[in-house]
Amino acid sequence: MRSLTVLGCDGSWPGPDGAGSGYLVQAAGTSILLDAGPGTFSQLQKRADPRGVSAVVLTHVHPDHWTDLESFATWAGYGPGRARFRDAGGRPLTVFAPPGLRPRSSYAGASWLDWQELAPSMVVSVGSLQARFCATDHGTPTLAVCLLHEGAALAYSADTGPGWSVEELGSDIGTFLCEATYTQDREGSFLHLSGREAGTMARAGGVGRLILTHRWPTVAADDVRREAELAFGQPVEQASTGAVFDW
Ligand SMILES: [Zn+2]
Repeated sequence: MRSLTVLGCDGSWPGPDGAGSGYLVQAAGTSILLDAGPGTFSQLQKRADPRGVSAVVLTHVHPDHWTDLESFATWAGYGPGRARFRDAGGRPLTVFAPPGLRPRSSYAGASWLDWQELAPSMVVSVGSLQARFCATDHGTPTLAVCLLHEGAALAYSADTGPGWSVEELGSDIGTFLCEATYTQDREGSFLHLSGREAGTMARAGGVGRLILTHRWPTVAADDVRREAELAFGQPVEQASTGAVFDW
């Protein structure tokens, strides 16, 4: 009934055969594309009909999180999506994005995109889902998001350093999709999290389940998972392209 499909989860740049950050979140007939990193529109087409996407939510301007919006918008304006999103009788594709992102798009003025600017503490409704946001610790304005459906809560850290906490999104998080870019030997080198930091945050926030994502393609998955499990005190799952999680 509620699913999270990973379209891409490589941190900062896509590795061989990988894709940047992108997730299809579905609940009761509503589909949200959460981030749209490079390679994710290709993965979306393999797994769902993009005509069914209700809205796109972009967390920040870094290219590994949004540049395939350009592919989606081209498809929606000139390709097979035209009748659904652009032509008479269609409805524009809603794109939620923080300030500063829209001007970077080739489709900033496209009639078939309905741009909506996000701010921290906003709450928006998309079909059967509600989304609430808060600012993370990532230098450039970045929004973490919590998606809610019939009492279930899925939180996504977007990109963040350790100055943010999942508790800022609420105390009712069932599933926490959290970035864990590298291992603890790199802590403090960038505004990202290690596996240890992600596990520590998830434990403090009392989340039900932790799924790691946004690992650099050059970092070993097992190393990140092991230190996250040690800190979280429970088994931890890892995102991989094509993986589907219930929430
Ligand atoms: Zn990133």
